[in-house]
Amino acid sequence: MLTDSFKEIIMLTKIPPEQIVIRPPVEAYSVLIPVTGGCSWNKCKFCGTYKGIYGVTQDYAIRPLENVKKDIDKYAENNYHGFPVFLAGGNPTSAPTDYLAEIIKYLRVKLRNVQRVSCYAKSLDILRKPDKDLKILAEAGLDIVYMGLESGSNKILRIMKKGTNAESMIKAGKKILNAGIKLSLYIILGLGSYEYSEEHVKETARVLTEINPTIFRFRTLNIMPGTPLWDEWKSGEFKLLSPVENLKEERDIIANLGENVTSQVFNDHISNYCAIESSNIKEDREMFIKTLDSYINDPRIQNLPRKNLTRM
Ligand code: SF4
Repeated sequence: MLTDSFKEIIMLTKIPPEQIVIRPPVEAYSVLIPVTGGCSWNKCKFCGTYKGIYGVTQDYAIRPLENVKKDIDKYAENNYHGFPVFLAGGNPTSAPTDYLAEIIKYLRVKLRNVQRVSCYAKSLDILRKPDKDLKILAEAGLDIVYMGLESGSNKILRIMKKGTNAESMIKAGKKILNAGIKLSLYIILGLGSYEYSEEHVKETARVLTEINPTIFRFRTLNIMPGTPLWDEWKSGEFKLLSPVENLKEERDIIANLGENVTSQVFNDHISNYCAIESSNIKEDREMFIKTLDSYINDPRIQNLPRKNLTRM
């Protein structure tokens, strides 16, 4: 158990941009190359990634190109060929297009048989780039970006200080796909609490239908100490949905999707209450809903207490 004073010391430890704080679970066995540090926005109420929840803080920065290349050289010298590569950092797509294209091309020359190149992306960074820049990145070999949609509801996005809205998400998502880059979106179940649960479902399904992303992934809201949402939860102002309510939100989002949606769907996170996945939700929709209903109707799940995970 950490004492408060020790917590304070480690909370204040600022780490440089070359140290990686998080990566998607699907990139667990990838070569991780830090490109940016921190997050240029860093205001979302539910997110403490760069604000100390892992015992460190990190300022937003773009790493010097030469340093990124040196990291790639080291991986090449150590024979890290044939792996996927994740360009790490909260928002590498905030970096200039030439800089990113050079990194991607360089790593694809130095590392043989790279399976996939990916990074996180923010909608506003994507909107700032002209379509031709996104094409340049696709041609350089950027295969897929991971973007936090979180919710399709403007109300929830505003309350959570996401710094963007549903229409921007739709525009950015379409720009990415039109450029030939795959898109994986994250959705946070429970983000609207009980009050906006219905709106969360309806609007998230609407935005997913508009975009038809390559993949979308569910995460369940857990509230981290040190985030603004933690204080609201502790004071009773914000309520966490029960396990069964989270599952209902997921079922209803799937049920409200338009017929055109052919995305892959994953529940590939420790926060989720089920692990169902689909390689094409258009084909699997009925199975998906039936499976979720079997969870929802199970008294063991109905009586499952809600735990808030603070380490993931
Ligand atoms: S959720 Fe993403 S955009 Fe929001 S503060 Fe965290 S890293 Fe930044």
